Amino acid sequence: MSKRAYNFNAGPAALPLTVLERAQAEFVDFRESGMSIMEMSHRGAIYESVHNEAQERLLSLLGNPQGYKVLFIQGGASTQFAMIPMNFVSEGQVGSYVMTGSWAEKAFKEAKLVGGAHAAASSEDKKFLAIPELSSIKAADNAAYLHITSNETIEGTQYAEYPDSGSIPLIADMSSDILSRSFDVNQFGLIYAGAQKNLGPSGVTVVIVKEELIAKSPSNIPTILRYDTHLKNNSLYNTPPSFSVYMVNEVLKWIEEQGGLAGIEAKNRDKAALLYNHIDGSGGFYRGVAEAGSRSIMNVTFRMQSEELEKQFVKAAEQEGFVGLKGHRSVGGLRASIYNAVPHESIKALSDFMKHFQQTQG
Ligand code: PMP
Repeated sequence: MSKRAYNFNAGPAALPLTVLERAQAEFVDFRESGMSIMEMSHRGAIYESVHNEAQERLLSLLGNPQGYKVLFIQGGASTQFAMIPMNFVSEGQVGSYVMTGSWAEKAFKEAKLVGGAHAAASSEDKKFLAIPELSSIKAADNAAYLHITSNETIEGTQYAEYPDSGSIPLIADMSSDILSRSFDVNQFGLIYAGAQKNLGPSGVTVVIVKEELIAKSPSNIPTILRYDTHLKNNSLYNTPPSFSVYMVNEVLKWIEEQGGLAGIEAKNRDKAALLYNHIDGSGGFYRGVAEAGSRSIMNVTFRMQSEELEKQFVKAAEQEGFVGLKGHRSVGGLRASIYNAVPHESIKALSDFMKHFQQTQG
């Protein structure tokens, strides 16, 4: 097998090698059907069993919260930015959004187009390098929901704890940190995540939703964009992204093997600590971007003394097999995305490389 890269891509991102190998082993003849899972009907027993298994496994990893369903929808998290206000904001209401960075802003802008949007708090004054104080978050009186972005992939910030939205449903974009740590699903009305960071390949978006919240969607929006369409049809209203759902199921099995969310969380905290400690201990050669209390354990953003040095760093890193370390084009700098499937050894190797690079600049 060819050498695997040290993959720090922000998404699509690293997948567990064992998952890729298992998928490879059953790629052309899935469960003795004589065909790949991509080649069979989504109405057949084999595909349906995988589909249902993935939903059950996800709920089980989340502690089987009562009254919640898992939906598989296409169009990425970006489609959820539109579906949420379309389905939930009725006449005279708004969606309340906590403005934490680039992705929260996108969700907010989309809600503005569709219904009404209101900023429940913002950390723009801190250049989005911190999550606002939870006590400062105030949903509007006429809020249909409070929307948060649990992890800002670009700025590298993450909620340490979630706000209490009282009787207003809390909705979270968990695209870049879903299943990275234990949390209580019962706090949320709806959680969504594009699969391509922590759950599998791109192509499927996972929605975990309190059934009572979507029992009835407004009748004046297109059928495919109504949550109740997907709920009533067990996410088989139209052809699902079957291969992506299959891969999600395999990634979920792998998470179980890591000791579930508690096991994964311990590993993720170790990995993040290794990298942040290295950055903090570099005497200012590397500087963390996010404020300490809001640092993400998934996307580690950092800078160096000059853009020129950052360029040299990325180039030298690429030569050593490190991929994806350039920061998002909108903010620059450097970013190591260390999602669930990025092994500890990759972070150790990165930390050793960073030390070596610093020495060469001596
Ligand atoms: N939200 C967050 C937090 C993200 O990181 C991303 C993708 N990077 C998105 C939304 C958009 O996801 P998609 O490309 O699946 O529409």
